[in-house]
Amino acid sequence: MQIEGLTIYKYCKLKKPLIPLRSYLYSLEPIGSGTPLVESLTSYIARLAEAHCVAPGILMERELASVVNKVYGGANLHRIYSFTRAFNGTGVMAHDLIQALQSLTLRDDLELSTMISWSEIFPSRNLLRCVKAWCPFCYEEWLTSGQQVYEPLLWSLDVVKVCSVHQQRLSQKCHHCHQENIPLAWKSRPGYCSKCGQWLGYSSNTKFSDKNNVGEQELDWLLWAANNVGELLAASSDLKFVPLKNTIAASLRNYADYFAQGNIAEFARYLELPRNSLWLWCQGTNQPSLNTLVRICYYLQVSLLNFLTQQELFSEQPQKTALFPTKLLLKPRATIKPFEFNRVKYYLENILLSNEFPPPSMEEVARRLGCDRRTIYNHFQDLCNSISDKYVSYRKARYLESVAQSCKEAREAALKLHQNGEYPSEARVLKLISKPGFFRYKEVRAALSETRRELGLDS
Ligand SMILES: [Zn+2]
Ligand SMILES: [Zn+2]
Repeated sequence: MQIEGLTIYKYCKLKKPLIPLRSYLYSLEPIGSGTPLVESLTSYIARLAEAHCVAPGILMERELASVVNKVYGGANLHRIYSFTRAFNGTGVMAHDLIQALQSLTLRDDLELSTMISWSEIFPSRNLLRCVKAWCPFCYEEWLTSGQQVYEPLLWSLDVVKVCSVHQQRLSQKCHHCHQENIPLAWKSRPGYCSKCGQWLGYSSNTKFSDKNNVGEQELDWLLWAANNVGELLAASSDLKFVPLKNTIAASLRNYADYFAQGNIAEFARYLELPRNSLWLWCQGTNQPSLNTLVRICYYLQVSLLNFLTQQELFSEQPQKTALFPTKLLLKPRATIKPFEFNRVKYYLENILLSNEFPPPSMEEVARRLGCDRRTIYNHFQDLCNSISDKYVSYRKARYLESVAQSCKEAREAALKLHQNGEYPSEARVLKLISKPGFFRYKEVRAALSETRRELGLDS
């Protein structure tokens, strides 16, 4: 029936909307995929557990163990924490766990959080460190800038000793309880010590930082190693080929041909390596550890990625001198020129006598002088330590003031919530205070508990 004045539209077919599959656990995205700082699988498990408000131990025991459904070395998955470094590695444990997590999260990119892509060419020997390593400055920066705190896969590799962003040695012991952390503990939480529960980050201006300093010459090699392995991890997401077992042997033989007319003994002398080992590596019978391979690449001055993908091989004529050992490749140690010596000394003494407020850090002083901080330390250790002490005292006083202020704010927030008929939970109080990050300090949490007790809310 046609009704005058009204338009008749075509019949509209209604289809059921396509609802994507739902995952059993949150489909949390791993951090930093495709970058040198891609997240490790142990970090991913810890964050996944945190997202579900349980400890990683509970997640492993209640959910993952039944999906993996295997017994390793006579123990269930949740009993093998001392071997948890293998979760980030190249073997069957990493493989099984990825499968289990994939089925529970429906993610297909978790392989990049392990070394599985390189399982054909890197032996598991000395590949991963037994204990956790971290850069306290990265942690502190991520926390203060509101970024997600996590553990990059790079830090779990034994060959990586420094953070290339902060040019400092990675820490392996908690600066509160001085204990080491295993890669995945029952209560692991990225950024916190699994033994004492304290925050593992600190800023480069604190006193601990100098302990981690690396000598300038060693730093050159350590940074090279960290950057090259990082480049390799970043490339894992975009590999155009499967790295095969004979890749290293083929590359080594090519270099031996070029530099030593195929004479392995001579090539071994150049590389300062045992002749027999090198011969077996060239044959493909054995494979060098990642540590040794990175050192070979450093001697050859070829990037690890290019060595493994053979992209750069003989694209330009390499200099034979590039083969000589590390000591010839290192830059000379920086020194302060004689005419600069008095200027720097005078400036440092004046900084100590001045009433400048806030007092500058040594980093700031070095910037003003246009000199490298470590070079100034080499020449004027006592003056530098005094300037650092002054700065650290100031920071400590500031920290105590901030903690006291946060305690006050936590108390006021709790009273206000209570007045409005709401329970002053940690989550609600956090939203009302100016520095929520300070809630990690026990003083602030104690102030909240104390206020709750006063209000008769907690016993
Ligand atoms: Zn760092
Ligand atoms: Zn600790």
